[in-house]
Amino acid sequence: MEELFYQKLLRIMPENQVKLKESMDKHTTLHIGGSADYFVTPAGTEEIIEVIRLCNKEGMPFYVMGNGSNLLVSDDGYRGLIMKIAEDYSQEWIKEDGTVIAQAGILLSKLANRIAKHSLTGFEFASGIPGTLGGAVTMNAGAYGGEIKQNLISVKVVDTDGNVLTLRKDELELGYRTSILQKKGYILLEATMKFEHGNQEEIFARMQDLNRQRREKQPLEQFSAGSTFKRPEGYFAGKLISDAGLKGYQIGGAAVSDKHCGFLINKENATAKDFVTLIQEVIRIVHEKYGVTLEPEVRFLGDFRREA
Ligand SMILES: Cc1cc2nc3c(=O)[nH]c(=O)nc-3n(C[C@H](O)[C@H](O)[C@H](O)COP(=O)(O)OP(=O)(O)OC[C@H]3O[C@@H](n4cnc5c(N)ncnc54)[C@H](O)[C@@H]3O)c2cc1C
Repeated sequence: MEELFYQKLLRIMPENQVKLKESMDKHTTLHIGGSADYFVTPAGTEEIIEVIRLCNKEGMPFYVMGNGSNLLVSDDGYRGLIMKIAEDYSQEWIKEDGTVIAQAGILLSKLANRIAKHSLTGFEFASGIPGTLGGAVTMNAGAYGGEIKQNLISVKVVDTDGNVLTLRKDELELGYRTSILQKKGYILLEATMKFEHGNQEEIFARMQDLNRQRREKQPLEQFSAGSTFKRPEGYFAGKLISDAGLKGYQIGGAAVSDKHCGFLINKENATAKDFVTLIQEVIRIVHEKYGVTLEPEVRFLGDFRREA
């Protein structure tokens, strides 16, 4: 069965884009996670669609990821196929009138630089978010008062049956760290955005300033998935966790960052079990002290029954 499915994948894409038993700690910024049975890195739209159709036909579970900067993969890994849409699918086209079309796998840092080089303003906020455009649209990523939603015009997605759809922004149900892509399992192929012309020097200066603020406040030198929890209405997760006395609190190799309590980090070879246990403990203690229920922003992938 394993051999057969592998051969079928090789009919869709070259051997160097298909891996068996790929360890997911290499593909997540947390550096945690067991292996995926199959791991593919498509380089074209047809490959993405064909892989989805093959998985459906063969009853193979599949999951799409970008840069793995918001993902916690279980210690047992993933029984199925993971499709990483990243640098091999990352072209962008920038037009005179400020319209930008980009493929899902482009890194936000790279896209922000390209947009700035064209003296377009509005994407500076995204330059320090370490994800792909696919992950960012799905999560409606945001920072420093900006959100992906603001400049989006439309997206091209594939549904779970392999059909390509074009959706306008108002059809995307974009909310705080949520979108219809998450709810329906749509896969982002490309997004069209529109930006205003601005002063190039000021745009680069703003990006540098935001990235300096990040370096000062966030533990960028440690393995994390960014803010582990969503912002609870009326509060800041980091402040609640800090006020609860949990700064530096550690379980196994996972810890609450000393620098920013909203970031849980992989401090010393943490397992997914350490990380999940820490998340649960933080939620429990914060709820006990302040009656606020923190909700994880990080996405869980795989079977966590062993970790629970
Ligand atoms: C140091 C650090 C700082 C961070 N700062 C911020 C911040 O300021 N603001 C913020 O919003 N986030 C932040 N994050 C979290 C993360 O970078 C964002 O959520 C980012 O948008 C995730 O993109 P990704 O490509 O890494 O997605 P992944 O982690 O690979 O996946 C995240 C989700 O997106 C889905 N997905 C990925 N690609 C696609 C696709 N092509 N089609 C459909 N679904 C897809 C996955 O299935 C998963 O559900 C930070 C993370 C780190 C490590």
